[in-house]
Amino acid sequence: MPPFDRWEPLRAALAEKAAQNLSREIIAVDSPPAPRVRVRGREMAMLASNNYLDLANDERVKAAAIAATQKYGAGSGGARLTTGALVLHDELEAALARFKHAEAALLFNTGYQANAGIISALCSRDWTIFSDELNHASIIDGCRLSRAKIVVYRHNDMNDLRAKVRAERGVGGAGGGLLVSDGVFSMDGDLVNLPEWLAIAREFDLFSLIDEAHATGVIGASGRGVGEYFAALPENRGRDLRPDIIVGTCSKALGSSGGFAAGRRLLIDFLRHQARSFIFSTMLPPGAVAAANEALRIIVAEPERLAKLRRNLQIFYDHLSVNFGDGAPPPPSIATLNAGGVSAIVPLIVGDEAAAMTLAQELFTAGYFVSAIRYPTVARGQARLRFALSAGHQAADLTPPFGTIKN
Ligand SMILES: *Cc1c(COP(=O)(O)O)cnc(C)c1O
Repeated sequence: MPPFDRWEPLRAALAEKAAQNLSREIIAVDSPPAPRVRVRGREMAMLASNNYLDLANDERVKAAAIAATQKYGAGSGGARLTTGALVLHDELEAALARFKHAEAALLFNTGYQANAGIISALCSRDWTIFSDELNHASIIDGCRLSRAKIVVYRHNDMNDLRAKVRAERGVGGAGGGLLVSDGVFSMDGDLVNLPEWLAIAREFDLFSLIDEAHATGVIGASGRGVGEYFAALPENRGRDLRPDIIVGTCSKALGSSGGFAAGRRLLIDFLRHQARSFIFSTMLPPGAVAAANEALRIIVAEPERLAKLRRNLQIFYDHLSVNFGDGAPPPPSIATLNAGGVSAIVPLIVGDEAAAMTLAQELFTAGYFVSAIRYPTVARGQARLRFALSAGHQAADLTPPFGTIKN
């Protein structure tokens, strides 16, 4: 009998992935993170980046990063509670708190670490967490780390949520509770039903956490997030639409890196003492912090960037409707979501994993970089092309040829 090979399970896992068309490949870009990029020697339209406001390569944002690096060095040198605290971190937190109309904010190194650290700090074994089935993996991991009971409700289904909360919390005596949702769902691009969702949290005295990774800079009249968007609707006049905890990231519309929490000062003080991903990780480097702060300044000062993103979304949706809309009905396997075009994420659901890969490859050949999103990021059989638009795209970038897709 051959000796047991401890590497064999790894080989088998990869072979299994390949057999299911779920192999992952890293595609390196050889240019700045801009609306057009160079990949494998070719220039193409980047339709897959979260760089929604085209700030990652903005000259002023880069200059801020360079100046901060010159002044403060390449790395922060420690965790925030030890030696890694810079005035720059305080300044960015104050700016983020202002932007979110919150009392205070706390930086984490990434949005992933923010969710993992916040949820596991707040919740413990005797708690119950109610989590949307399409929440981001970092929320799921935070829930698991907390060891709380996790109750998953159907996507954005407020009836299902209410029924499940009532079943769990109606009889009293339970420990604390948390209701958690993406603000913009990262793979579908739709928005949480915030007013009803918050009403349920308040009725049952649950903490409320909204992850605004894809909402910050994009949603609402001035990009402040889903609260701003819903507050502007007439039926919500006078309602307080702020959740207890806002999570965000500086890595998407802000074009830099770094997660954050925003909320009451009490919450921020608590997290500073309890969130392990904050306590035990070297704080963000000066360049990233200064870049995010400059990006935030630009977002507030130049609302035309968001207006341009919205015009680009309209162009793209018009192009989709020409190809898949009234005049040319989509084949049954392809359907578009997020028809309102509120967020910058446009999913084109294909279904089959191999088909999604083929379509992404065809678009790549035609000069359009698009992500094929497959299991485990989305459910099996829900594979899709996920377009993410930018304020910096030109019209020609926004009209990829769907001719072959439709066959
Ligand atoms: C991207 C994302 C995160 C993670 O943010 P990073 O800064 O990239 O770690 C968290 N939540 C959601 C919904 C996201 O889309």
